[in-house]
Amino acid sequence: MTRKQVLVFRELPPDQLARLQADHDVVVANPRVDAQRAAFFAALPQAQGLIGSSFGIDAAVLAQAPRLEVVSSISVGVDNYDISAFRQRGLMLCHTPGVLTETTADTIFALIMASSRRIVELANHVRDGHWRSNIRDGLFGWDVHGKTLGIVGFGRIGQALARRAALGFGMPVLFHNNTPLDLSGQSPHLAGAARQVDLDELLHSADIVALTVPLSDETRGLMNARRFAAMKPGAIFVNGSRGPIVDEAALLAALDSGHLRAAGLDVFAVEPLPQESPLRRHAKVTALPHIGSATHETRHAMAVLAVDNLLAALAGRTPTARYV
Ligand code: NAP
Repeated sequence: MTRKQVLVFRELPPDQLARLQADHDVVVANPRVDAQRAAFFAALPQAQGLIGSSFGIDAAVLAQAPRLEVVSSISVGVDNYDISAFRQRGLMLCHTPGVLTETTADTIFALIMASSRRIVELANHVRDGHWRSNIRDGLFGWDVHGKTLGIVGFGRIGQALARRAALGFGMPVLFHNNTPLDLSGQSPHLAGAARQVDLDELLHSADIVALTVPLSDETRGLMNARRFAAMKPGAIFVNGSRGPIVDEAALLAALDSGHLRAAGLDVFAVEPLPQESPLRRHAKVTALPHIGSATHETRHAMAVLAVDNLLAALAGRTPTARYV
């Protein structure tokens, strides 16, 4: 088998890096790290395979990689890639669906719990030495069980979230999805527990709204001032998909006016969240550093699938999870 040139643009677990090195010549350089940026762009002209995540690969980057055959993303979301540029060049793009579904749903449910029951705020209350008497109603939380959950984007992660909510917490589920879904066929355990509605009805009726929709031209800025205003007074908003789907200024205004009770956010318009962002220290916000899939097991499984995809594509075989 011909050895090819592989450029790894985000750290891989040692065992998965070794799999690549066994078959190919590998350069590791993360363009998001200042000290490695020049090495990334120096290796790009030779690269036949790229593997990594969290870096925008647009037409300008692709133009510097004339020998490229495949990009293997260590993510399910493909919003970092200029899909039309890939199609025009006939380049393959692979991703990692499925292996992160349950973990990401866990994270989003944790944000629902943390926002409703004020878990982080009250843990800090203890840590900071303020627990000197029983807490009073000013610090009470809000029940999660029995509340109506609205899920925007009802794919793998949205349905995994719905299972937790409906089957574990007795929550009626409303969902909004691009295309109509027949749950009796694909998710029979959710049939009867989850109902498809349009976005306006979801926003008007849900106590908790969670985003599990991909970032696209259609969804960028979807949650704007008008849509936050359409949410129920006192509702909770949770974002576990991508930051740019939310107008953060509009979210802050909805929190500050008292219209929304709280927000749980794993993703932001700019990441890492800038030091000066008011979301970082807002009393009503639980902010996480984009950890949807960040467990040892899941990040490893994502790396395995991404390496599988890359090795298959470079060998002329069909990858397990090809996006383009
Ligand atoms: P998926 O299975 O493709 O589900 C996405 C769902 O959203 C699909 O059912 C899709 O419907 C629907 N959808 C797409 N555009 C829509 C729109 N404009 N309005 C309403 N529904 C729309 O993807 P997934 O595996 O669940 O992942 C979803 C997203 O989660 C990823 O794209 C990624 O951005 C995000 N994510 C975040 C983390 C994190 O660390 N926080 C981790 C993993 C994933 P159709 O199929 O009918 O188009």
